[in-house]
Amino acid sequence: MATEHVDAGAADTRGVQHPDASSVSAKGYEDPAVLESVRDVLQASVTDIARRLPEVAVRSWVLGPGNVLQLAARAGEDRWLRKRANVPFVGYPLTVGSRVLGVIAAFSPTELSDEATALLSGVADRVVVALELHGIGRQINLQDRAIAASSNGIIISDPHQPDDPIIYASPGFERMTGYPSAEIIGRNCRFLQGDDRDQEGVSELRAAVAESRGCRVVLRNYRKDGSLFYNELTLSPVTDREGDLINFIGIQSDVTARELIQQERDELLQRVENALAVRDQFISIASHELRTPLTAIKAHAQFVERKLRRDGNLDAAARLQLIDRQATQMGALISDLLDVSQIESGHLTYAMHELDLGPLLDQVVEETRAAQPNFVVEWEREHGPFPVRADEVRIRQVATNLVSNAIKYSSSESRLRITLRRVGDQAELSVRDWGIGIPADQQSRIFNRYFRAGNATESGLSGPGLGLHISHTIIDAHGGRLWFESEVGAGSTFYFTLPIASS
Ligand code: ADP
Repeated sequence: MATEHVDAGAADTRGVQHPDASSVSAKGYEDPAVLESVRDVLQASVTDIARRLPEVAVRSWVLGPGNVLQLAARAGEDRWLRKRANVPFVGYPLTVGSRVLGVIAAFSPTELSDEATALLSGVADRVVVALELHGIGRQINLQDRAIAASSNGIIISDPHQPDDPIIYASPGFERMTGYPSAEIIGRNCRFLQGDDRDQEGVSELRAAVAESRGCRVVLRNYRKDGSLFYNELTLSPVTDREGDLINFIGIQSDVTARELIQQERDELLQRVENALAVRDQFISIASHELRTPLTAIKAHAQFVERKLRRDGNLDAAARLQLIDRQATQMGALISDLLDVSQIESGHLTYAMHELDLGPLLDQVVEETRAAQPNFVVEWEREHGPFPVRADEVRIRQVATNLVSNAIKYSSSESRLRITLRRVGDQAELSVRDWGIGIPADQQSRIFNRYFRAGNATESGLSGPGLGLHISHTIIDAHGGRLWFESEVGAGSTFYFTLPIASS
């Protein structure tokens, strides 16, 4: 080791470098706890040298945050140092693995003897061994290896320098971006965005840096070869014991594959939504357009039917009555299709008012009796009003659907029983029939869209399988419940409840 001359006045702050040190990487050593242990070891060593070489001043520096050398330990008389311009000195880097931890140096008023330099060199080696013994080397090597092995990119920036430059970039970051560390250090990490500056993540990142807080953003970044990659950046501020900001650490992951899948999924979803919107629009327009001629067909059929009946042409009148009934059925089918498309698009709306269920169901019963004179419709209604907050048209639709199902799926016994009663704070309607019933293994699917039980289709009773699905949705939206009990061959009872309105 050659003796060199340095300006002793600047020795505390100037980087002091071993001639061989350029071949090893120098990285700031940031963990305050480890830094403390390093200082202890160094202080013991410099004190030992100063004891053995009484005329020399011994100092040791360690690389602190941001690769800045900090004085870590000193020993020996050094007042003479300030008065001298050129001082003979000898310095040794303290390296652990591939990492320069700091430097240990001795300044002498006279040329240092070979014994003195040999002694220093031996102590420097022992310091390294002592640091290893303290587990520091292992820790550093382990950390270095972990960082090098990580596929994430890690960068550290120094917000105290103008424009918050990167002061450390891990091998993972070099791999991810294609830039070697030397082309990264000293630049603000915005260079990865190139000209693609108008990004949501960038604004969030800027705000986080300004407020010295952490954040997680996904940025469009560009590799050295110009190719795009999506960079998920987790930024964390590092503070000292007083809570003052020292550095920002950024962990970066290449999430390009995930982002592209997400974009593809979003595009697909958008296309599905567009297709659904077109379908809903079609159903809505088609139902309006279909309903208008249907109304005319019904009106004319009824008019001609009455005339034929008056003229005594009963056969032709019966046929026109059939046309009228079929037109009614077609109207109901169009309404069901429109309702289902509105349910799916979330556009089924309700005009809620306070109303009494009793009179409403009186009407439904009356209409049923008039339309089905062959049926025995038992109507059991408890006394008192049944005030509920509901959409009258929709609740009538549900009741009618249950009653018409009971009639449609009846077998030989043309009878049904409708009951209205209060159960606690609920109004409960039930519609009982003695019809074909629903097979037990299909009951769980009965409210599904387009579902029809096997025995319903087998018996040739047509229907789109939408009524119960719509009814269930309507009752749900009213805060009530719709359910049934059924046994094949014995009949079914459908129930719904609605909360009694507290006035
Ligand atoms: P649709 O009557 O048009 O088929 P719904 O949604 O009203 O549609 O009913 C769905 C299915 O539930 C029917 O196809 C039938 O299998 C069964 N179902 C409904 N009500 C009854 C009932 N009262 N008795 C027996 N089966 C019924």
